[in-house]
Amino acid sequence: MDVPSYNCIMCDENVLEKRDHLFFHCKFSKTCWRYLCPNFSAKQNVHANVSHIKEELSVPFHVEIMTLCAWSIWKTRNDYISNNVIPSFYRCRRLFKEELNMVFHRSKRKKYVNFETWISLFR
Ligand SMILES: [Zn+2]
Repeated sequence: MDVPSYNCIMCDENVLEKRDHLFFHCKFSKTCWRYLCPNFSAKQNVHANVSHIKEELSVPFHVEIMTLCAWSIWKTRNDYISNNVIPSFYRCRRLFKEELNMVFHRSKRKKYVNFETWISLFR
């Protein structure tokens, strides 16, 4: 498959789109993470970023939150590539909230005692 460029399309930094850039170092993804973790700063590798976000979130459902944020960034990127939908933080945030609400409805309420309270902070 011939692709015109392998650079990140989510920013103007003109850098190769690798996992760590797309999900943590890109200006776009940093904006998304800071919505959830105001003190987020991109670390050296994925493991350090996951640990940092886990610590910042301080909730037992941090894996779900991190997965949904990464999923929303991925979907926003793919919507631009496949459907020419201009990426925006607001669109990504809306995708995140929609997915979050679906996860909440599927979750076992006992396991996620504070989940509903946490979600209400982001509505
Ligand atoms: Zn980027």
